[in-house]
Amino acid sequence: MRWVALAVVLCACSERPQVPILTHHSISRGADEFAVSPERFEAELDALARAGFRTVSFHDWLDGKPLPAHPVILTFDDGYEDAYSTALPALRARGMTATFFLVPSWIGADAAHRVVREEDGMTFRHLVWPEVAAMSAAGMEIGSHGEGHLRLPDLPDEKVHEEAQKSRLEIEAHLNRPVEVFAYPYNASRGRLRSAVREAGYRAAVSGSVHGGADRYELFRRGVYARTTPDEVLREIAR
Ligand SMILES: [Zn+2]
Repeated sequence: MRWVALAVVLCACSERPQVPILTHHSISRGADEFAVSPERFEAELDALARAGFRTVSFHDWLDGKPLPAHPVILTFDDGYEDAYSTALPALRARGMTATFFLVPSWIGADAAHRVVREEDGMTFRHLVWPEVAAMSAAGMEIGSHGEGHLRLPDLPDEKVHEEAQKSRLEIEAHLNRPVEVFAYPYNASRGRLRSAVREAGYRAAVSGSVHGGADRYELFRRGVYARTTPDEVLREIAR
């Protein structure tokens, strides 16, 4: 019996080799520490390419598709307008792909209904659905970051399930393709949240916790911040 359990554990690990996952937010000259400048971002992409890294999607990884020798998954949280205006052209110019985690309640119907939020004295402009559709059509993967970007550990199970499921269904209705991956708002994950996200129909979830290990619903991401240099990114993912 013990051998059977061990075989299952080994199998689960070998099916999904570790792929480094990087987290970005805004690609802009924003004032906050989460905003990476366009120049720094392009330098990061070029450094990854020079070091032999090739971008892959969660979908291909979860499906067990053959991966390049040095795979990396690039992710972007919160669905800022610059994901479309700045990150997308930089990625496409290099033949790269990425995964964008959106908050549907922050996505406007069109440019005339763009959501602009004021928070901590800063202004955040978000994507609109036609931009999201263009990103999806360009081969970018779209995931969910919760319906309202709420701190899930503070919520009862039913509300967590609702935040995860409603956001998935809303994005799927707009893009007509499955939404497979969830990013916990504030990278805040807990055991019960992992079950709720799985039951809400996702194949995997990402967090900032180093404790996730091989748990497909707590995949560890490394953050890229305003101060992070391309060399630091390479050093981090080489570990
Ligand atoms: Zn977020």
